Amino acid sequence: MVSRLRLMFLLAVLMPQAVMFFVTHGSAMATNRQFSEVQACTLAVALLLGLFLPGIAAEWAVGKRLHRMRRMCSRVKRGDYQELLPVPNESSEGDSLDPLLALMRDMNWMARHIQIREQDITRMIDDLRQSREAVRAQNQFLTNVNEELLAAQMELQERTTELETACRQMETMAMTDSLTSIANRRCFFEHLERHFAARICRCKPISLMILDIDRFKTINDTYGHQAGDRILMRLAEIIRESSRDKDLPARVGGEEYALLLPDTDSQGAIAVARRIQSKLAVSRFALDSREPATVVSITVSIGVCTMVTLPCWDRDKLYSYADQALYYSKNNGRNSISFYNPDTESIAEVRLN
Ligand code: GH3
Ligand code: MG
Ligand code: MG
Repeated sequence: MVSRLRLMFLLAVLMPQAVMFFVTHGSAMATNRQFSEVQACTLAVALLLGLFLPGIAAEWAVGKRLHRMRRMCSRVKRGDYQELLPVPNESSEGDSLDPLLALMRDMNWMARHIQIREQDITRMIDDLRQSREAVRAQNQFLTNVNEELLAAQMELQERTTELETACRQMETMAMTDSLTSIANRRCFFEHLERHFAARICRCKPISLMILDIDRFKTINDTYGHQAGDRILMRLAEIIRESSRDKDLPARVGGEEYALLLPDTDSQGAIAVARRIQSKLAVSRFALDSREPATVVSITVSIGVCTMVTLPCWDRDKLYSYADQALYYSKNNGRNSISFYNPDTESIAEVRLN
């Protein structure tokens, strides 16, 4: 570019010299000497100007462009992409001849792309901010739901505990005789059923005792139902006191009790029956809560049966045999103990020694 400028400048200066040469050469106003001096000076000045001025001019032009580029860099640094460098329409020939122009065009391109990238990044930051807000809201929602769930779970836990307690109470109630608080008929037979359910030989004896109050109807009729109830409660206590923890006392009818004695042979069962009868013999049953209360004594008839839990025997047989023994006692004058022997299938009263 500098050489082109230089050439143009030389032509611009030398052309007038040539014109002047022809004009002055042809006129008689000037001498050859005069011409030569003027010409030499003009030529020297033209040469000097032709040599230095293009360089200065080119430097000034380059400096101006560099200054624009620096200003543009400052604007880009500030984030101002509006004003680009003034460049002519793109032509590969012009750009290859003028590398500064190509650089300016590249700078414009870079500025535009930095702007686009910056816009993209701003958009992404906005999106991220929105996403973060959405996540925060979602998080809050989940925390609330979680708290509600925890509260519901605790509520459920409480209800379940209440329900379990109520269920246990109902189960206990369903298995307990409300008057005497010992096992009821249902509980007793379920227990007996479980004992025989396995239908295997435990090779251990089991005894069953059935007790029935003698002439209880008369007591009821004479002293009233409430007085009868007091006797029923106290008798339950006496039976419980006379048995072990693993035995099962139960009220199986109105004034009829059963006592299941696991791992107990006939002698053991009869000993328990005697113990109960002995206690009853010395017991006086209060019929009311007055002081002094009206008291009566009672007797019971008892039937006992003992068997080994063989697979061929079941709970019904055991109960039926003990029941038959009880009726034997009733028919034999009451207040007695009778024993059913399953081996001989016979009943005999147990005599007091
Ligand atoms: P036995 O010696 O033959 O057994 O005569 P009993 O009077 O004891 O027998 P019976 O079967 O004739 O009468 C039983 C009585 O028990 C009748 C009923 O009023 C009474 N009874 C049944 N359940 C209850 C109860 O829960 N409370 C009271 N107080 N009495 C009851
Ligand atoms: Mg009776
Ligand atoms: Mg009865």
